[in-house]
Amino acid sequence: MDCIFCKIIDGSIPSKKVYEDDKMLAFYDIEPAAPVHVVMVPKAHIASADDLNEENSQYVAHIFSKAGEIAEKLGLDGGYRIVNNCGADAGQTVFHIHFHLMGGKTLGKMA
Ligand code: AMP
Ligand code: ZN
Repeated sequence: MDCIFCKIIDGSIPSKKVYEDDKMLAFYDIEPAAPVHVVMVPKAHIASADDLNEENSQYVAHIFSKAGEIAEKLGLDGGYRIVNNCGADAGQTVFHIHFHLMGGKTLGKMA
């Protein structure tokens, strides 16, 4: 499948990994929007939040269950923001669901 994040997961596109297990991968965003900016992705190709259901939402639960641990590893003691862009109006550019984990400064308002 022609998906950048599937290729990062299978190693055919390199990434700077922060955390990995059998269900997810977290890696540094190539165009950081905050001093610390990591992308957390499931190891299943789900196009967007719009494609979540009872069967595959376990991947999202798993990602959120690890987010605190990843943030701690990154030194985000003051807090962090998790963002999901769903669809064109939200600015989603990669159609493999992902959660931006951002911090390292006082972040501005959402939109
Ligand atoms: P979104 O706009 O929510 O779809 O976010 C996609 C994110 O993926 C953007 O912040 C991009 O900078 C990031 N991105 C795209 N390609 C790569 C890559 N090869 N390695 C790391 N991050 C990437
Ligand atoms: Zn994919």
